[in-house]
Amino acid sequence: MRRADRLGRLLALLRAERLDGLLVTSIPNIRYLTGFTGSAAHLAVAPRRTLLLTDSRYGLQASREAGRIRVRVVEAGGLPAAVGEWARAAGAGRLGFEADVLSWGAHRRVRRALPRGCALVPAAAPVERLRVVKDRGELRALRRAARIADRVMAAAAALLRPGMTEEAAAAAIERIARERGAEGTAFRPIVACGPAGAMPHHRPGPARLVPGRPIIVDLGVRVGGYNSDLTRTFILGRLTPRYREVFEAVREAQRAALQEIREGAEACRVDAAARAALAARGFGRSFGHALGHGVGLEVHEAPRIGGESAARLLEGMVCTVEPGVYLPGWGGVRIEDMVLVGPRGCAELTSSPKGITESVP
Ligand code: ZN
Ligand code: ZN
Repeated sequence: MRRADRLGRLLALLRAERLDGLLVTSIPNIRYLTGFTGSAAHLAVAPRRTLLLTDSRYGLQASREAGRIRVRVVEAGGLPAAVGEWARAAGAGRLGFEADVLSWGAHRRVRRALPRGCALVPAAAPVERLRVVKDRGELRALRRAARIADRVMAAAAALLRPGMTEEAAAAAIERIARERGAEGTAFRPIVACGPAGAMPHHRPGPARLVPGRPIIVDLGVRVGGYNSDLTRTFILGRLTPRYREVFEAVREAQRAALQEIREGAEACRVDAAARAALAARGFGRSFGHALGHGVGLEVHEAPRIGGESAARLLEGMVCTVEPGVYLPGWGGVRIEDMVLVGPRGCAELTSSPKGITESVP
C-alpha cells in the first residue's frame, strides 16, 4: 500500500469519528504514515493540510523521506505553537490526539496553543488500527527480519558453551545480527540459564551457562524498520527428564494455539488453547504472561493475544505465539515463533528447528 493510501484510509477513519484532524505524536505511527525515520516530530493530519513538523536536525531528511507531505522545521520547544498555527489555518474544530501516547505535559502545552473553538479529543488509536494488518511491502520486511532471526538463532545455538557468560552470548548475538544484514537487534537479546529463565524478561548478566540447565534465548532483529521476535530453549549436555517433560508441554501448547489461529479467531480463545494444553500436563499455573503480540514497526504492538484481549484476528496480521513454563528455582522453557494470519490458518514466518533433540548442541 502506498503511503498516500495509508493517509487516505486514516482520513476516512477520522471522518467516521467526526474528527477534523489528528495530531500524531507516536514516532512509529509517523514513520508508517510518512516514511520519515527520524526520532523527533509531530504529524498534523487533516484533508489536504497534512503537515510534518520537526526540528532543524531533521529538516533535510524529512523533506527527502516524506515525499509529497509538507514539512515545516520549527525551533526546539516550538512544536505546540506550530500545531496551534496549523489548527488555525486548517480550521479544525475537533482535533484528535493519541490518548495512549501524548504525555499529560505535552497535552497541556498543545491545548494552550490551540485557537479558541478547537477541542483536543482523545482518539481510539486510529493509526494502530491500520497498522495491525500488514501490506505487501511490510510483509516482505517482516519475512526478511524473521529469516535473519532464524540464521542468528542457528549461530547462537552453535556458540553456546558451558562456562560462557549470558552477557557474552547476548553480545555475540548482537554482533551476528549485524553481520547477517540486520540494522541491529530488535531488543537486547535475552539469554537466561537455569533459575534466571523463570523470569521471562531476565537481563543477561555475568552468570555462566551450566550443563543440564535450560537456556532460554530470545532474540529479534530489525530490517527496514521492521522487527522479528524468536525464542528457542536449549540445554547443554544430557537431556533431563524434567526438561523433556516441560519442553514437550510447551511445544504442545504452541501446537494447540497455532491450530486455532485463522481469520476471525478470537485472540483470547487462542490464548486459552495454549493454557488448556499446559494445564492438561500439570503446568496450568506456570505460564504468567500473554501468549503473544503483534510485531511490526514495534516489537510489541497490537493485537495482544492474551486472556483479556478483545481482539479478533484478521488476515494479514503478524503476531507471535510464545507459550512458556516458568518454574522458580529450576528455570523456564519458552518457544516463540512469528506467524502470519491467513483465511483458514496461519503460516509460520520463523522456521528455526523446534524439536528437543535438534536443540541440543
Ligand atoms: Zn521474544
Ligand atoms: Zn515476543
